[in-house]
Amino acid sequence: MNINVVIVGHVDHGKSTLIGRLLYDSESIKEGRVKEIQKLAEEYKKRFEFAYFLDAFEDELREERTIDTTGVIFKSKNYYTITDVPGHKEFIKNMLTGASHADVAVLVVSCSQGIEEQTRRHAFLINMLGIKKLIVAVNKMDEVGYKKERFQEIQEKMEKLLSSFGYSHLPFIPISAMEGDNVYRKSSRMNWYTGPTLVEALDSIQVERKQKPLRFVVQGIYPASSEELILGRVESGTLRKDSELIFEPSGVKGKLRKIRVFEGEKDMAEEKDSVGVIFTGKARRGDVAGLLDTPPHPVDEFIGEAVLLIDSLREKDTLQLKLGTAKVYATIEKIKGKIDSETGGLIEKNPEKINAGEAAIIHFSTQPLVVEKFSEVPELGRFVLVRNNRNIAAGIVLEV
Ligand code: GDP
Repeated sequence: MNINVVIVGHVDHGKSTLIGRLLYDSESIKEGRVKEIQKLAEEYKKRFEFAYFLDAFEDELREERTIDTTGVIFKSKNYYTITDVPGHKEFIKNMLTGASHADVAVLVVSCSQGIEEQTRRHAFLINMLGIKKLIVAVNKMDEVGYKKERFQEIQEKMEKLLSSFGYSHLPFIPISAMEGDNVYRKSSRMNWYTGPTLVEALDSIQVERKQKPLRFVVQGIYPASSEELILGRVESGTLRKDSELIFEPSGVKGKLRKIRVFEGEKDMAEEKDSVGVIFTGKARRGDVAGLLDTPPHPVDEFIGEAVLLIDSLREKDTLQLKLGTAKVYATIEKIKGKIDSETGGLIEKNPEKINAGEAAIIHFSTQPLVVEKFSEVPELGRFVLVRNNRNIAAGIVLEV
């Protein structure tokens, strides 16, 4: 199984060093490469810098185009793909483009430096991205003499912080990424710690890829010989030939007669597949199809969080809202709160308006539209607000 891991934490707390350590100890870096880098390190009479490995490794990946350069991979019980930290800008980009979804986050916090700004902000972001599995790696234990008391101090503070985002009973692991303690190998320098190493903790995580209901998003309708071809993309679940479907908000029911791809016909299509289908009823662009027992629900209101990129937004403003392939009119019914987009903290309750660069929780009313919570079906939980043909805000659906 391939598990997507995102490593987050404040700058300089040791994320790259940890990634380097994981790659090195799991022998994901080629032998020759290790020697070469060790030699270089010796030459410079430098301490072995694993962060250096990562840079070197990434260059290697870039050369081998076959591997995705956005992620590095190491293997233990599972294959792990590590993606980079979502900064605030990248986060907005993620909301717009739907970058890959992480199954697990490892939050790195330095025991000697303590909780800092990005420790908070990343905790907020991973929660917002719907990442439920979190491991806290308390790093640089070597700098605090591997002391249990120092570890416990950080653990207590972190537990307080993380419980405000709804995380509880998390694994906390004292590590030294630099020395390799409790990353791959159990440390003999912290006998007071009896829990798993970081890799053991990753290996024991149960990733629940819940069977999600079918959501097939219509991108276009094309006349093809005697019948109509509906082009679209499976955003979640499985599309099967001969199943009974309902398209919402059109409300049209019928039978899926054929699934067409470039090469011919198929019996089923899965998540991320773009296909053409022949259906017994009439669908429209912007419709979302589902099975009759788990149908998509069209809504005319929802709660979302939006970050305003330009202009300002006031209550009762009406704009266009793009979500999936749908484009509808939406009204700002209420701005429930202005929030700090870095930390997620509430800045002001019920403000009259928000300005560029600010984020807010908003109650929208819309023309009928199929939406899902961002944490469940990201492609149907992410929207853009448009005014005079300009994208002025990006947002995600929090509650339907
Ligand atoms: P990042 O910004 O979070 O990726 O942090 P880096 O991995 O670049 O590490 C920042 C600095 O902390 C570097 O000088 C590392 O050598 C050092 N560092 C990282 N992990 C450890 C550790 O476990 N112990 C000690 N003593 N230093 C570490």
